[in-house]
Amino acid sequence: MTTRAPALFVGHGSPMNAIEDTPSARGWAEIARVFPKPRAIVVISAHWVTEGVRVMSNAQPKTIHDFGRSFPQALFDVQYPAPGDPALAERIVQRLSSFFDTRVDDSWGLDHGAWSVLRRMYPDADIPVVQVSLDSKLTPNKHWTIGRLLSHFRDENILILAAGNIVHNLPAFFRTKELLPWVREFDDFVISAAASGDDAAVLNYTSRADAAEAAPDWEHFFPVFYGLGARLPGETPHIFNKHYDPGISMTAFAYGLPQ
Ligand code: ZN
Repeated sequence: MTTRAPALFVGHGSPMNAIEDTPSARGWAEIARVFPKPRAIVVISAHWVTEGVRVMSNAQPKTIHDFGRSFPQALFDVQYPAPGDPALAERIVQRLSSFFDTRVDDSWGLDHGAWSVLRRMYPDADIPVVQVSLDSKLTPNKHWTIGRLLSHFRDENILILAAGNIVHNLPAFFRTKELLPWVREFDDFVISAAASGDDAAVLNYTSRADAAEAAPDWEHFFPVFYGLGARLPGETPHIFNKHYDPGISMTAFAYGLPQ
């Protein structure tokens, strides 16, 4: 019997988590040690936004340094030379294309939403990785549905890893040092809805008064829908990395960890 891999959502935050010893980076390394090594990893990152769903088909994806020059050279020097999996990319396209405009794409690689987390989880970079883009034209429900369709691959010991941030307000991050109340409140709202299986509440997040402050960048919030959608029946979330910065939550959740 093949091992069933978990589904993860992680708050990825600053790219510095890739090279600094932070509580969140340690949390990523620790979670990877509690379940068997996956055969492959499907990543949905906040940093790959397209029109239509695109599935990275590169056999040897490049490491993309998609952040500003203000970051140190050490971050630009990071390489994450994990292989791709073109056959898996084709199968993902087949699975999604009956419902969505989906195509393989070799113009991308691994962006920092993916590799900042992956190099902590799997520093040997020996597990094939395929990224799936965020289609900017889809509604929250459609993104959730893609997560549901991808959950199918978990039965082949393929990890689903969605990387965004439940709370991601960069102006607030740069403006203040204090923990603004809506950071924790919005984070708690998402986590308690996930714990009670109320995905509809999360999909309807814009009805909350604090949504505009907590989740102004849709592309950082929407990976949450993939984490929720990839849950299998009967699974409850394991919450970890409940760390906050001003304007940012690093909270992560996992479904399907070994009991
Ligand atoms: Zn980001």
